[in-house]
Amino acid sequence: PIILGIESSCDDTSAAVIQGSTILSNVIASQKVHQKYGGVVPELASRAHQQNIVPVIQTAISEAKIRQKDLDAIAYTIGPGLLGSLLVGSSFAKSLAIALDVPLIEVNHMQAHIFAHFIKDANDEAPEFPFLCLTVSGGHTQVVLLKSYTDLEVIGETRDDAAGEAFDKIGKIMGLKYPAGPEIDRLAKEGNPNAFKFTKPKVDGYDYSFSGLKTGVMNFLNQQQQKNPNFIQENLNDLCASVQHTITDMCLEKLYLAAEDLGIKSLALAGGVSANSELRHKLNLKTEEGYKVFIPKFEYTTDNAAMIAIVGKIKYENEQFGELTSKSQARFKL
Ligand code: ATP
Ligand code: FE
Repeated sequence: PIILGIESSCDDTSAAVIQGSTILSNVIASQKVHQKYGGVVPELASRAHQQNIVPVIQTAISEAKIRQKDLDAIAYTIGPGLLGSLLVGSSFAKSLAIALDVPLIEVNHMQAHIFAHFIKDANDEAPEFPFLCLTVSGGHTQVVLLKSYTDLEVIGETRDDAAGEAFDKIGKIMGLKYPAGPEIDRLAKEGNPNAFKFTKPKVDGYDYSFSGLKTGVMNFLNQQQQKNPNFIQENLNDLCASVQHTITDMCLEKLYLAAEDLGIKSLALAGGVSANSELRHKLNLKTEEGYKVFIPKFEYTTDNAAMIAIVGKIKYENEQFGELTSKSQARFKL
C-alpha cells in the first residue's frame, strides 16, 4: 500500500509517504518560534501547524512523485502530545480520508518512535522480536519490551521529567536555546565528562527520575556563580560533557538491568534523545558483550512522519483502521 503519514503532536509539522516499507518522502517543518521561550508554547505550536500543514503535505506528495489519488490510507498521530497540535493533524487527516474515500489509521506517537526501526534503510537490519527498546524523547523515557508488533509492554518509565526534558531544562539554566539537547551534544565534544560529578537519583526497578538531577545541577551552578559570575561560560564544555555523561549513563543503566533480568540480547534505541552521540556510542559498545544493538538513522530519531507512516503500513496490513469519530488524546498509553 501507499500511505500518507501525518505527525503534528508537538512542534514539528511533518508528512511522509511510504510504499511498502520504503519511504518515498519525509518532509518536516520545525517551528522556530519556540526557541526564545526556552520551551514549546502550545498556542504558538497549533497556529504554526495550521500554517504549515497544507504546504508540508503537498510537498510530501510531490516529492514522493505520486498523485493524491494513489494513496491507500491516511495515518495520523492520535496522541500523546499537545491537544491543540494533535487536532490540526487529525482534522486534516480526517478531511483528506473523506475526500479520497480511503481508510484512516490512528497512530500512537510513542509506538511510532520505536517502529521507526522497521522502515527500510532505517538501520542495517530491523530488530527481531523479542527486543528491549529504550525510548528517550522530549516527553518520555521508557524501557519497552516488545514481543511482537502488537505485544508492547512498558516495563519502566520516568516518574517525573523525561531525559530530553532534563537536557533541555539544564541547558536552559546554562543559557542555551531550546531545544538544548543537540547543543549540549555539540559542546560536550570539547569537554571533559568527568570534570564535574552530579548525583544520580536512586529509583527502584526500571523506573527513572530526572528532576533531582536538574535541581542538583541548578544548585551547583548557583553556588559556583556566586563565587565566580562567569563560571558557566568558562566551564561550558566541561559542564555539558559532565551533564551528558550523567544523563546517558542513567538512561542505559536501567536498560541493561532489564536486559540482564529478562535475558534479552537485542537492544534498540528510539526517540529524539537517541540522536545523542554519546548515548549511541555507549550502546554500540554493548556489541562487545554479545548484544545486538539497533540504532535508527538520525532523521528517524526526532519527530517525523515517516515513523507514523510505517506504523500505518503495519496496521493497514492487520486491518486495524480508525474512526472519523475518534478523539485526539493528549495522554495516550502504549
Ligand atoms: P515525545 O516524543 O515524548 O512526545 P517530543 O516528540 O517532543 O516528545 P522528540 O522530538 O522525540 O520529542 O525529541 C526531542 C528531544 O530530543 C528534545 O528534548 C531534544 O533536546 C532532544 N534531542 C535531540 N537531539 C539530541 C541530542 N543530540 N542530544 C540530546 N538530546 C537531543
Ligand atoms: Fe516525539
